Amino acid sequence: MDLAAARTRLAAVPDPEIPAISLVELGIVRELRETGAGLEVVLTPTYSGCPATELIADDVRAALAEFGRVTVTMQRSPAWSTDWITPEGREKLQRYGIVPPQCSAEQAIRVVPKLRCPRCDGGRTEQLSRFGSTACKSTWRCIECGEPFEYFKPI
Ligand SMILES: [Zn+2]
Repeated sequence: MDLAAARTRLAAVPDPEIPAISLVELGIVRELRETGAGLEVVLTPTYSGCPATELIADDVRAALAEFGRVTVTMQRSPAWSTDWITPEGREKLQRYGIVPPQCSAEQAIRVVPKLRCPRCDGGRTEQLSRFGSTACKSTWRCIECGEPFEYFKPI
């Protein structure tokens, strides 16, 4: 078993909701280990009850199929946090037009963030809705270029 090759393959699996970022960059891959029968991948889903969870497990199984039997285990505790998004993942989100979390979840309860537009870098932005295309994002608009964008809310 070439565990390093399996790790490389796993690192290339994109998030089905935001294909610009991989599952590893999103910080949901807890562990990849060899078992007697093949591989076990431990994932912490971003949100419980997220419909993408089954899809993600299927994608992981398909990506690693050549390495033998793949077991996907969901570990829901401790809960996933946006703090686990890697620096590379944050950069890719920003380039994709989704502003990555700007603070910890604890700070977010008290402060509405001041966001810069991911398209024109303008500093005058406003929140249009606390929810975006998914519950984990909020919808914003840039007053300078007029374009809407999404913010990945800290949790
Ligand atoms: Zn703008």
